[in-house]
Amino acid sequence: MPRGDERGRALTGVFPHAGVEGFEQVSFFHDARSGLRAIIAIHSTVLGPALGGTRFRPYDTEADAVADVCRLARGMTYKHAVSGLDCGGGKAVILGDPRTTRSEALLRTYARFIDGLAGRYLTAEDVGTTQADMDLIRRETPYVTGVSESLGGSGDPSPATAWGLLAGLRTVGARSWGSSSIEGRHVVVVGVGKVGRALVEHLVADGAKVTVADVDRAAVDAVVASHGVDVVDVAGAHAVECDVLSPCALGALLNARTIPELRCSAVCGSANNQLEEPADGQRLADAGVLFAPDFVVSAGGVINIAEERTGRGYDRDRAWQRIAGIEATLATVFDRADADGVTPEVAADRVAEARIDAVADTRRIRISRPEPTV
Ligand code: NAD
Repeated sequence: MPRGDERGRALTGVFPHAGVEGFEQVSFFHDARSGLRAIIAIHSTVLGPALGGTRFRPYDTEADAVADVCRLARGMTYKHAVSGLDCGGGKAVILGDPRTTRSEALLRTYARFIDGLAGRYLTAEDVGTTQADMDLIRRETPYVTGVSESLGGSGDPSPATAWGLLAGLRTVGARSWGSSSIEGRHVVVVGVGKVGRALVEHLVADGAKVTVADVDRAAVDAVVASHGVDVVDVAGAHAVECDVLSPCALGALLNARTIPELRCSAVCGSANNQLEEPADGQRLADAGVLFAPDFVVSAGGVINIAEERTGRGYDRDRAWQRIAGIEATLATVFDRADADGVTPEVAADRVAEARIDAVADTRRIRISRPEPTV
């Protein structure tokens, strides 16, 4: 065992890692036989077990993976808090290309590591992982959500997330053009994966004009074949004149370069961490673009999952009703932004932090049974 001062030196370089400070736990998992390399970040369990999906993708460096998983885990804490859920914030990444690295052994090994966290972290689907992956993980651990309905779960959360975006769009409409209807409005959806294509289906059904962009030509072709929507290049998608830009791919679409080129009234999409840096929130406000904070409007999936874990059995109608509450949550955030004279992003943080503090305060009262889960 190293002496105290040596141990302190040995750990220097881990704890001050960008993004890790302020986290309860950041765990690294490695298994040479299956090739698994994974990181699970638990940002906060104040409100309940840390819930967040598993992202499966290659990263240029391990530092990039740590930064990404931490940023995403922190976002989950705020997403759950603002949505009124009893879940903390966590996230996981599996490092590698899912097309070449995915295997039963790798996922089951990963599941066993999740099990070792004994319920402090609950996983779910995210970019690069599928419902079939969650079903496989379920064979090793109960700490997984969004498994198939045949296994008692709520299934892929993406349709629920898209339904939540639609609720957010109603509030955006009320603020931007004085009506909660999107009929006749033009929405540009960037990323037509699981969430984006479900959103397009709703938008078309509700009479919106839709333009899509995606780096994956097959994904675009599938949406065009089903809905006959317009297509634009990914590079110029953010600059298309429209009512709403809906980022539904990866984060950081909104930054110092793209914001001056926007020609939309509002941004409302599911992609996590759409602002490249905090200053982008003010840049959007200065440009007169209403920003619906992503962690508020993309909560449909986790609200759906929370319904799965209420212990009374998953009920889709009940879940869908609760998800529609995103309309009111977003209105609360916009009101707070107006009242405090801050951007919606800052206001949403404040609403979330106030709830975390208030609930944490109640935990000083001891109860005689185990703390409730999600
Ligand atoms: P997905 O992987 O199914 O789809 C993402 C799509 O974006 C793919 O079609 C991909 O080709 C495309 N894409 C990747 N890079 C792009 C780029 N630079 N420009 C345009 N398109 C690009 O993922 P998803 O489940 O639909 O999730 C989309 C986003 O929403 C992610 O940021 C995810 O974290 C977030 N989100 C998803 C859910 C959910 O329920 N699935 C919930 C909350 C948040």
